[in-house]
Amino acid sequence: MRIVLATRNPGKIAELRRILSTFEIVGVEEFPHIGDVAETGITFEENALLKAHAVAQGSGLPAVADDSGLCVDAFNGMPGVFSARWAGRHGDDQANLDLLLAQISDLPEEKLTAHFRCVAALALPDGEWRTVEGRLPGHLIKTPRGGNGFGYDPILVPDGDTRTTAEMSPGEKDAISHRGRAFRALAPIVRDLVTTA
Ligand code: IMP
Repeated sequence: MRIVLATRNPGKIAELRRILSTFEIVGVEEFPHIGDVAETGITFEENALLKAHAVAQGSGLPAVADDSGLCVDAFNGMPGVFSARWAGRHGDDQANLDLLLAQISDLPEEKLTAHFRCVAALALPDGEWRTVEGRLPGHLIKTPRGGNGFGYDPILVPDGDTRTTAEMSPGEKDAISHRGRAFRALAPIVRDLVTTA
């Protein structure tokens, strides 16, 4: 059974393929008539479902989508769903990181708790859906470290570690990441719902 992952990010497709190895995972670019879905939601769940439903409808196949971001406790969970466009331009990782660093510069260390959060959604062409969440809790540092990963990885140190997620190998990060946790939690649901659909 084929499942469409509602992303053009090859890293996410590879990660879902590793986790859902019994299914054939294809990227949404295999369905050129499906355009980009605007992330107009104000929660991770809303955005993940918008994408999963649009792709399930457009492809006629079960679709998986995720939405993720960094939630800073001192900022009531922001940047949150606005993580990718925090500094105003979608996907400008460096500007987003620089703005957040400026915003946390006066915070004392004990107020730097934060987590990465990911909601993964499965939608079927008949409209049925499920969502699950994964979190990676930790704290922020004020001087970025590490060259791996993307986004806010250079400033998030997961609980129980001394390294940022940008100092971990991709495999080490997958094993604990919010996305890895959400995709792994979704796997049995996909097996259940898609196999019996
Ligand atoms: P998206 O869910 O792929 O659209 O990611 C939203 C934004 O959240 C990204 O552009 C990053 O700024 C941030 N983000 C999500 N996951 C991670 C991660 O694993 N590391 C660092 N930043 C992340």
